[in-house]
Amino acid sequence: LARTERVQHPTFYSTNVQRQALAQIRTEAGLHEALALDQFELWYQPKVSLKDRSLSGVEALIRWRLPSGGLVPPNNFISVAERNGMIIQIDQWVLAKACESMRIWQAHGGPAQVAVNISAQHLAQDEFVTTVEQALLRFGISPTALELELTETALADLGQKNLDKLRALRNMGVSIALDDFGTGYCSLSYIHKLPITTLKIDKCFIDNIVTDTSDAAVTQTIVSLAKNFHLNLVAEGIETEEQCQCLVSLDVEAGQGYLFARPMPFAELQQWIEGKNNHPAANRGSGAEGR
Ligand code: C2E
Ligand code: MG
Ligand code: MG
Ligand code: MG
Repeated sequence: LARTERVQHPTFYSTNVQRQALAQIRTEAGLHEALALDQFELWYQPKVSLKDRSLSGVEALIRWRLPSGGLVPPNNFISVAERNGMIIQIDQWVLAKACESMRIWQAHGGPAQVAVNISAQHLAQDEFVTTVEQALLRFGISPTALELELTETALADLGQKNLDKLRALRNMGVSIALDDFGTGYCSLSYIHKLPITTLKIDKCFIDNIVTDTSDAAVTQTIVSLAKNFHLNLVAEGIETEEQCQCLVSLDVEAGQGYLFARPMPFAELQQWIEGKNNHPAANRGSGAEGR
């Protein structure tokens, strides 16, 4: 299949699977069952340095494997789980699983850092810092090997208590990324106060960066913002060589996207890393999803 066809019709997101999935996830029981029967899978998408395409880390992305074999994407159940409160248990499962993977990678030359998406409700829990600390301790992971991604929307109106939690984690050495940056409403003075280490430029600015001069201008502004605030910068959703070159010329250091690799299961990531080490010149995107 041509790349564009693959992008527009990923097999796992077919309407049939989606219809079946939606019918199931309408009920809380579906999500309870998913947890109880171990139906969640944690997939990983590489983050690379844009200049030499070296692996800098991975983002952990949850999938729900239905008994029928279909795979449900997070956008179809995370909001349901946020509404019924199950997101906290789900996020905790993800955190533990990501740390477990990290422990294996530490011994086998895998990515140096794993990023986990955290819901606002999870952060709001009194035990949040303890939960993260315990996951790190349980698997013997250094705090510097963990990054927490929170969306700009989730961080928009944090109370002092939640800010203190992020600061405590930051002081421990955990990295904190502002996800989907540019789509929310955080003011510059507010961002400056947040104990974050990284900005992730939302995919919507990358989509048309080659042709749309205002998207390029926004990105350029985010680059200088990151420089002035001493933050790392990652571009999300890079799909073409042209987008990548454009980002390099704008001085964006790191990126993530189908151009480099799609999210993939643990075992496949291992193969991807080995393939990369054996053929350092091969930059073609790969990964299980949507093939
Ligand atoms: P996100 O954290 O912004 O993750 C990036 C999303 O963009 C992922 O979708 C990823 O597969 C997709 N993506 C990456 N590169 C490309 C590209 O080049 N082209 C296109 N078209 N898409 C790309 P995914 O895995 O479906 O996840 C969607 C969202 O669900 C995530 O957005 C995140 O907000 C949420 N999510 C995923 N896993 C978890 C989790 O474990 N816990 C929580 N709370 N939320 C999660
Ligand atoms: Mg994310
Ligand atoms: Mg994002
Ligand atoms: Mg997103």
